[in-house]
Amino acid sequence: MPTAAERGPLSGMARAGDDTTGDDPAGDDAAPDRVIEERAPAKVNLDLRVTARRADGYHDLDSLVVFTELADRLTLRRADSWSLETGGPFAAGLPAVEDDLVWRAAQRLHRYAPDRPPVSIRLTKNLPVAGGIGGGSADAAAVLRGLRRLWNLTIDDERLREIGLGLGADVPACIHGQPLRMRGIGERLDPVRGLPDIPLLLVNPGRALPTADVFRSLRIAGTAAPRAPMPVGAGVTRLAVWLASSRNDLEEAAIARQPVIHSILEELRALPGALLARMSGSGATCFGLFATPEATREAARTLAATRPDWWIAPTTIPADAPPNRSAPWENRPDTDPSDCHPRREPLFRRPRWGVAKR
Ligand code: ATP
Repeated sequence: MPTAAERGPLSGMARAGDDTTGDDPAGDDAAPDRVIEERAPAKVNLDLRVTARRADGYHDLDSLVVFTELADRLTLRRADSWSLETGGPFAAGLPAVEDDLVWRAAQRLHRYAPDRPPVSIRLTKNLPVAGGIGGGSADAAAVLRGLRRLWNLTIDDERLREIGLGLGADVPACIHGQPLRMRGIGERLDPVRGLPDIPLLLVNPGRALPTADVFRSLRIAGTAAPRAPMPVGAGVTRLAVWLASSRNDLEEAAIARQPVIHSILEELRALPGALLARMSGSGATCFGLFATPEATREAARTLAATRPDWWIAPTTIPADAPPNRSAPWENRPDTDPSDCHPRREPLFRRPRWGVAKR
C-alpha cells in the first residue's frame, strides 16, 4: 500500500470544482432553473481483506477501491414537489422509492437544509443492482454532491461523508470517487496515488447477491497479514502481480451462495491476455484485469459470444483521475455503450421512465 508520503487524509484535500467553499450571496435562488447532472461511477474492489469481526457484528475491511467510467446518471432540478423517476437498463431491479438510496440520501440532506426547495430527481440505472460494485452507494453519493451544488450548501466533504456513512459503508468512498484504501467499515479512507491506467472487464451474471447474505456465509474470523507495499508508478502488469498476492476474502462465501461466480472467474482467467480475475465487493460482479483496453474489448467480444446473458462491460480506470465532482470529470464521456454486452439487448436503450411521486 502507499506510504504516508503518497497519500493524505481526505479532509485536507483540495476540492476541484467545489462551489461550496464560501457563502453564495445569491443563495439557492441564483439560478432557479438550474439542472444538475452527476455521474455515479461503479466502484471496484481490486482486493478486499476482512481484517476482523467486530463485537457489534460488523466486519473491519481493508480494500483497494477504484472507480470506473461505467456509471449511473442523476439529474436534479428544482420542483414544486419531491419526485424520483427511474429508467435505464437496470431500473427494474430497484427497490421501492422509499427504500431507494437516492431517495433516502435526498431526504437525509434535506433535513440539514429544510428551507431548500423540493427537487425532482431522475436516475438512469446503468449498473447491475446488488452486484458488488456499489451502484446504490454511488447513487446516494451523487445525490449528496448534486444537491449540495443545486442548493448552494456550505457543507464540506468531510460532513458530507459523515452524512453518507449513515446511509451505507461504501457511500463515503463514493463521495470521494477516486482510488482509495478503505478501512474500518468504510469510514477510514486514504487516497491512493500512482496507479496506472487499469483496463478491466466487468462481468455480472444477472443475479442479485445481497451483501448481508454473503457476510452471513463468511467462515473466516479475519486475516490481518500485512500487504506488501503497493508498487507506486508501476505498469499494469506489475500491479497485477502485486494484486495476486492479495485476494477478496468474500469470494468463497459468495461462491457458496452463487456458484456461477466460480464459472465467471474461471472463464475470465481463460481469456487471452487476462492478467488476473477476481470478484468485486460481495459479488456477484467479477473483473478481469488486462494489459490494454484493446485486449479488454477483444476479451469482451470473445466472452459475449458464449455468454449472451451475462452483463459484460469493458472499462478503464484512468490513472490519477480528477475528482469526480469537478467539471472535467463530469464531462468525461461514458464508456462507449456499443462496447457493452449483451448486444441483443443494448445496455443504453432508450430509457423507459417510471414516475414515482411521494
Ligand atoms: P454494497 O454497497 O452493499 O456492496 P452492492 O454493490 O452489492 O452493495 P448495490 O447495487 O449498491 O449493490 O445495492 C445494494 C442494496 O441497495 C440492494 O439491496 C438494493 O436493493 C438497495 N438499493 C437501494 N437503492 C439503490 C439504488 N439506487 N441502486 C442500487 N441499489 C439500491
